[in-house]
Amino acid sequence: WKNEVVAKLTGGLAQLSKQRAVDYVQGRARLVDAHTVSVAKVDGSTETVECDYIILATGSRPTRPPAMVVESDRVLDSTSALDLPRVPEKLLVVGGGYIGLELGTVYAAFGAEVTVVEMTSGLLPGVDRDLVAVLGRRLGTLIKAIYLETTVVGLEPGAKDVTVQLDGANVEKGPQVFDTVLLAVGRRPNSDLPGLERTRVETDERGFVKVDGQRRTAEPSVFAIGDLAGEPMLAHKAFHEARVAIEAIAGDTAVFEPLAIPAVVFTDPEVAWCGLTETEAARGKIPVSVARFPWAASGRALTLDRPEGMTKLVLDPDSERVLGVGMVGRGAGELIAEGVVAVEMGATASDISLCIHPHPTLSETVLEAAEVFLGKSTHVYRPKRN
Ligand code: NAD
Repeated sequence: WKNEVVAKLTGGLAQLSKQRAVDYVQGRARLVDAHTVSVAKVDGSTETVECDYIILATGSRPTRPPAMVVESDRVLDSTSALDLPRVPEKLLVVGGGYIGLELGTVYAAFGAEVTVVEMTSGLLPGVDRDLVAVLGRRLGTLIKAIYLETTVVGLEPGAKDVTVQLDGANVEKGPQVFDTVLLAVGRRPNSDLPGLERTRVETDERGFVKVDGQRRTAEPSVFAIGDLAGEPMLAHKAFHEARVAIEAIAGDTAVFEPLAIPAVVFTDPEVAWCGLTETEAARGKIPVSVARFPWAASGRALTLDRPEGMTKLVLDPDSERVLGVGMVGRGAGELIAEGVVAVEMGATASDISLCIHPHPTLSETVLEAAEVFLGKSTHVYRPKRN
């Protein structure tokens, strides 16, 4: 079923490209100069493409620290983990970030006994702790063990299992055996493109291609978008950058300067945020007010039997402007779009409170969070602001 969905989506794109008269050359590209690309095609022939502009969109690939470089079909990355013919019995997930938690929870739901190891002191480093805590409570029931401040120092694949040596504060010493290991410790940009050195394109110390506000590289005819052009490595950020680059090439005054790039961790519950986070505000000493609405006070969350969520607004205390939105709960990834619109449109708490939200829905948690800030939430009693 998964493969059918993928085929439908990729087939659909091929069709749309054809309708727009886009030439598709399948093969491995090498830059000859800033206006020429040579493609070693899958049929063995070579095609040279001359063009006015080049947009680089080669993405990223999983990182593998030296202790984790092994060849085995029992040691997976995010690509192979989406193509497993079987459900692992005992799965070790290395990395408690987006991929580790998304796929770890999927396989736990399929019945695998899942252990997660994370190098830092908390899951989803960088994400607001109050949001992660809600997910963490649910993970506690789904995942067998989560080892923080722990990493893998040895990985030895056998015919039927993988022997792993972990190093961390609270982990047992000695080898542990898993039948499958998923490595999800981050990704790095695919900027080692053959022939890039024949252009003036520059990369930074992490390998990202350096671009300006229009995604133009130091070589005026070459643009770069997506994971290749910097964090966050999210598909929707790439789509937006692609539009900016195309509009810039067409001579429009486009620029990439979003106030809010939404991020969604597709676990259950989902964690989503956009704009300024409470963590970033604290780090940058930016004065903010934070208004939280617990989903336990939402009728819709109760009827869904999923009251464990939370919606929070990060606001400028003086202007009441919404600077960021964070959410955790079932379907938070859908709800965050309202947060993006609010931040990008410069909405204030009063603006949100004056918009009628449908009842009974989870979207009311955004309305009520604004009303918590204003001291007039129906379902959370807080004395009024002066
Ligand atoms: P990540 O940066 O989200 O998480 C990697 C985790 O591994 C971090 O928590 C890090 O502290 C930990 N780690 C690093 N080295 C380690 C080690 N040696 N031992 C143990 N833990 C270690 O990266 P990811 O999960 O690999 O995903 C890569 C990128 O792909 C993400 O940054 C994200 O931008 C993108 N992505 C997004 C989505 C989504 O939007 N839902 C889904 C999947 C991936």
